[in-house]
Amino acid sequence: MQSKTPSHIDRWVWWLFPLLVFGAVAFTFGLMSYIGPSLPFILLGVVLALGFVWILASSISPAKADRTCPECDEEALERLDPDTTRGVICSSCGHIDREVSAWYLAEEETTLEKIVLSERAQKKEGRPQERPLDNTPNT
Ligand SMILES: [Zn+2]
Repeated sequence: MQSKTPSHIDRWVWWLFPLLVFGAVAFTFGLMSYIGPSLPFILLGVVLALGFVWILASSISPAKADRTCPECDEEALERLDPDTTRGVICSSCGHIDREVSAWYLAEEETTLEKIVLSERAQKKEGRPQERPLDNTPNT
């Protein structure tokens, strides 16, 4: 198996990990002596508050489908096939991407349950999940 990091980095990068771990432990002990024994409770409160803020922000501003076309930057992406959650087509320039997920687009336009159940039924029957539309390359 070939390493993904360059060889000159490979040699010394492994020496950094123990130093980082010991540095983090030393930093924590330094904080404990500076702040006191209430530090774990403060950290727990901060982590819980961050989680609560994350849930609140996600509830107030839910995810929206990004309909921006990567080719022409127009807000014109539509689902390629209304029966699946895969593939988009741009109504402005005709850009087609068959592999990209159109889950958010389908979520806004229709009920996902119908699509998921029909795809599940197709899998049980052993039919192919995707229907080829044509043989043009994906550009
Ligand atoms: Zn486009």
